[in-house]
Amino acid sequence: MSTINKDGMLIDNKVVHRRSPGIEHGMLIGIHAIVVHQTDAPTAQHTFNGYKAGGNGAHFLIGKNGSIYQTASLHKRCYHVGRLIKSKCLAINNKNCNSARMAKILAMSWGSQIKAINANERAKTYPDRYPVNSDSIGIELVGKHIDDKTYETIKAQQNLSLQWLVSELYIHFSLTSSDVYKHPQVSYKNPGEASTAIWK
Ligand SMILES: [Zn+2]
Repeated sequence: MSTINKDGMLIDNKVVHRRSPGIEHGMLIGIHAIVVHQTDAPTAQHTFNGYKAGGNGAHFLIGKNGSIYQTASLHKRCYHVGRLIKSKCLAINNKNCNSARMAKILAMSWGSQIKAINANERAKTYPDRYPVNSDSIGIELVGKHIDDKTYETIKAQQNLSLQWLVSELYIHFSLTSSDVYKHPQVSYKNPGEASTAIWK
């Protein structure tokens, strides 16, 4: 069983620490979910190089050979979800939707609609809405975008490492597999991102 040290780093011989302070943005208090991503880069090194400049990033990175790197502290927020979240009640739990309000939003133009949905959702708390940067851990899997619907297929070794990592995080943060999401479920992304990730 892994432990988490005072700096928010996961301690286990399966995890290599490659912390990039430039992708940490303030405190992360109250972790309720995990969002799984693909990097759109061919190697882990490309992502490490990108993280040196700071900006967007995630807490963990899983290489093609299944190596697990922790790239940000679990006490720090990373920008991995994006600015506009989708509606969870529209997608999976319709009874939680205020249907009159939602009908009004859905009648708007696309640009206004996605902003109004985001504002409507952010007024809710998890699990009534999808996770956001301030309450979730991000896990990146190395893999290139191929076209507007497809990413590289995730390797078996990567999925095995993902399964181990999420099972440790379930214990540390009292999560279940229903708290793990693929990035395109949560925000407006290439639907292929993480589509071949398997964690249960
Ligand atoms: Zn992503």
